[in-house]
Amino acid sequence: MFDVLSGLLLPSRCVGCPDPQGPLCARCRPALDRCHRHRPDPEPPGLPPLAVAAAYAGPARTAILAYKERSRRDLSRVLGAALAVAVAEVLADRLRPAAVVRLVPVPSAASAARRRGGQHVDRLAAMAARVLRRSGVKVGVAAVLRVRSGPSDSAELTAAERSRAAVGKFEADLARLRGCGSEPGLWIVVDDIVTTGSTLAAACRALGRREVAVAGAAAVAATQRWHGVFESRYGGSSSSTVKPGGSPLIRVESSASSRRW
Ligand SMILES: [Zn+2]
Repeated sequence: MFDVLSGLLLPSRCVGCPDPQGPLCARCRPALDRCHRHRPDPEPPGLPPLAVAAAYAGPARTAILAYKERSRRDLSRVLGAALAVAVAEVLADRLRPAAVVRLVPVPSAASAARRRGGQHVDRLAAMAARVLRRSGVKVGVAAVLRVRSGPSDSAELTAAERSRAAVGKFEADLARLRGCGSEPGLWIVVDDIVTTGSTLAAACRALGRREVAVAGAAAVAATQRWHGVFESRYGGSSSSTVKPGGSPLIRVESSASSRRW
């Protein structure tokens, strides 16, 4: 409770370093500004095109953990903005002004959500949608997935255990899907962290069972245990980074911006 109150009421220090300017100082913010396409290796079957805003390391990792596990709600703006950039990246060649985008948050198990004071990815998705709307995108959050069964929190599992546990983990709620309307749209599954990609693939599978075709997936950060596209993009090229003016179709403020929403 104190964490929640302090996150809401007290001036915050940077979560990534001792800088007094929180929640993430100007020096730490660029860690969330490394948007790139990402493929886990090995790649789980059914994983759609995927973009992430950052490597799950350093200040980006600290910020996500503080937001998720220590109720640092004041990080939702910067993390939501980073997620918005990743969504824009994965849709960069498909977004048209009239296109309707639906962000589908990956849900946590009920016990984990209770511990964290709610579905933290829902809040990130809402913030990302807000940022994207300000950029002219017609977008909404479609929280249509729910956790079917399995361990309370996959963070405690090994990668192999997580992959096995993720299969059939989610189901898409038919009533909530109907509540999204019949207008065709671009469905994007969103999450905070990508590790093996099996959770995202399971979420896509659950939507597929309801005949919803997923156009892509986006997350705030991806773990670095995988190699290939991720390392080459993260280490060198910044051509996939979506920054103000960086995309021909959509402009999204990057997380490093000092602008506040
Ligand atoms: Zn800092």
